Amino acid sequence: GQNNAPDYLKGLNPEQRLAVETTEGPVLVLAGAGTGKTRVLTTRIAHILATGKAFPSQILAVTFTNKAAREMKQRIGILIGEGNVEGMPWLGTFHSIGVKLLRRHAELAGLKSDFTILDTDDVVRLIKQLIQAEGLDDKRWPAKQFAQMIDGWKNKGLGPTDIPEGDARSFANGKGRELYKAYQERLQTLNACDFGDLLCHPIRIFRAYPDVLKEYHKRFRYILVDEYQDTNTAQYMWLRLLAQRPDGKPISPLEGEMSGRTEASRRQAGGTAPPSVASGDISPSRGEIGRSSAETRATVNICCVGDDDQSIYGWRGAEVDNILRFDKDFPGATIIRLERNYRSTAHILGTASHLIAHNEGRFGKTLFTEKVAEDDEKVHVHAAWDSEEEARAVGETIEAYQRPDKQGNRHNLNDMAILVRASFQMREFEDRFVTLGLNYRVIGGPRFYERMEIRDALAFFRVVAQGADDLAFERIVNVPKRGLGEATIRQIHDTARALRIPMLEAAAKLAESDELKPKPRAALREVAANFERWQKALETTPHTELAETILEESGYTDMWKNDRSVEAPGRLENLKELIRSMEEYESLRSFLEHVALVMDAEQNEALDAVNIMTLHSAKGLEFETVFLPGWEEGLFPHQRSLDEGGRSGLEEERRLAYVGLTRAKKNLHLWFVSNRRIHGLWQSTIPSRFLEELPEAHVEVAESGNSYGGYGNSYGGGSFASGRGGKGAGRQNPYGASRFDNVGEEKSGSFSNTYATPGWQRAQANRTEATDRNWGS
Ligand code: ATP
Ligand code: MG
Repeated sequence: GQNNAPDYLKGLNPEQRLAVETTEGPVLVLAGAGTGKTRVLTTRIAHILATGKAFPSQILAVTFTNKAAREMKQRIGILIGEGNVEGMPWLGTFHSIGVKLLRRHAELAGLKSDFTILDTDDVVRLIKQLIQAEGLDDKRWPAKQFAQMIDGWKNKGLGPTDIPEGDARSFANGKGRELYKAYQERLQTLNACDFGDLLCHPIRIFRAYPDVLKEYHKRFRYILVDEYQDTNTAQYMWLRLLAQRPDGKPISPLEGEMSGRTEASRRQAGGTAPPSVASGDISPSRGEIGRSSAETRATVNICCVGDDDQSIYGWRGAEVDNILRFDKDFPGATIIRLERNYRSTAHILGTASHLIAHNEGRFGKTLFTEKVAEDDEKVHVHAAWDSEEEARAVGETIEAYQRPDKQGNRHNLNDMAILVRASFQMREFEDRFVTLGLNYRVIGGPRFYERMEIRDALAFFRVVAQGADDLAFERIVNVPKRGLGEATIRQIHDTARALRIPMLEAAAKLAESDELKPKPRAALREVAANFERWQKALETTPHTELAETILEESGYTDMWKNDRSVEAPGRLENLKELIRSMEEYESLRSFLEHVALVMDAEQNEALDAVNIMTLHSAKGLEFETVFLPGWEEGLFPHQRSLDEGGRSGLEEERRLAYVGLTRAKKNLHLWFVSNRRIHGLWQSTIPSRFLEELPEAHVEVAESGNSYGGYGNSYGGGSFASGRGGKGAGRQNPYGASRFDNVGEEKSGSFSNTYATPGWQRAQANRTEATDRNWGS
């Protein structure tokens, strides 16, 4: 039995093992966070390779990030020994695999194989040209907005002729469709494509050239997809093309073989000897590959894993329905649920499960853990006066974790993460950690001060504070665009060098000479006058006020206000946060000094460092200790989701909260502040409704230290605070008359929540028993 199993299978639970060993036919693993879905995928690849069911090149595995792909490759290497794998599977994100496919068949999409991939800026510039060429006003019809529309269409796999009438009409007086078409043609002449094309071109090629598709049907015997709940329509179409026969039937073995195999797998999962790979196997063993390809039936076996509760990219076109209708798309699919969570303590899991149960549109799901230890800490909820205090308190908690505990263990910084809802929240933590000398790294995006808009703003400030800062000057002399071309800038350079003066001075001189054409001259004159005025104001105006003035008078704030891209509101938030952060310094100069220090802090992968990232980029990851700051209405759930009204935006926020909570293995700290500056205005805030949705049994509201004195009465009417008598009352039941009284399971110590669930997912007879047994407390 178990003893004969290869090492990589040992330690898997029976359901996981079934998911690994049911290699043939469609398989869906639909399971909650931390149940080992990703581990199943990795082990499944190892198993397919180790048993010789396929060559690496016959496996296609899709991960959500490139980082996840790298980690998976590494793990596979460890599982079956580096030496045992020649080559590697096609393993990467939809985009990276799309590039690989498209390079091979570029000519079928009208491209050459060395096509370039345009980034967002390129795309917008191109579209702007097209809009102008059409004689349209590009202020009324902004290129950014149209770029986003195109991206949305491509996420749905829609070409120019497929887009709905209404959509086509809504842009540029009904010219939407023509513009889209013109855009595609222009890309073709440029031998270029955008990100959406990396999926859409292959889809089109597969449809138009059945022979090509067939080639891939033969090649990819095994397809695996992680985070399936976040696939968008185009990704879904792409997958279906690869995984289904042209006649629409799923590519799976004959019925008889199927049931035989499933039977074998069951036996195996139950502990009997694994069936030999060769006997009756429809997949060729290593020696047969290539030789008998003519008779080999296309047998694509698809295994998708995901969690509908972790679908957090709806705003980017992801369709959670894709996972929910898997068994319709792939009839005869084996559906496997994993219920044991290996990641988190009972308190953490109980908290997360209880929260997500507040969503209506979901499948019921049971999760249990055997990780129950006497000294497990409850989930901590902390209050702070404002975000500065929040950052200070998080810093203190991190330092406390670094000190050795009773057993003498100390926590590594690497094992800790701060997950924020909005990127502007990072700034306060970064600043604090630099002051404390705590190493940190920002994952999935630039650090606060490295963001484009922040660097731009800082460049303005640097020139004001230090007129000779040529690098800064060069960065912003033509920001926002004022028609200063390369030639003019070169001229400024030359003058500066010839006269040995800073570029700003050189610019001022050129502005007064007749060496320049009238337009750039006027522009330079304005730049020079602006800086002169701001430099004078430096002595008389408070520096935060001046900073705001600079960003306004330079047109920089307006530039982002007029920008209709999705990133623009975030950039404006960041700029406001930048101004706010300056308040903590005496002068512009001391602030800039501080920034220079922060920027200099090493971002070294090998270094032991606290991880800071957004909740969105934390998907799939896990940490010993997790801090979740900013649980306030308007920030989390985010105001945009509340403005939308309706359930779906709010439910996506709640799923995001679930993702956040379930990243933690052992320690989990939530924070809310009473005052936060949002959109530049101080607001007294109300604790997030999500806090009220946490189960009392697993949560402890931290007793406030003296430093938090005085916030007791400041929560307004939030019922979260209704049990508080003020300072030091944190231990009392903070929920007031509990709305949790109705949640029966809570009392029996189980947090399973079963909602009306159609079809197959009802088949979980052992649910109650399993949870009760393992979770009785
Ligand atoms: P998420 O939904 O967050 O992506 P997941 O379902 O993909 O989670 P994994 O990341 O694969 O879960 O696993 C969570 C943790 O549990 C990992 O540390 C993993 O190594 C561990 N784990 C999974 N299965 C087992 C097992 N059978 N025995 C011991 N540890 C396990
Ligand atoms: Mg995972």
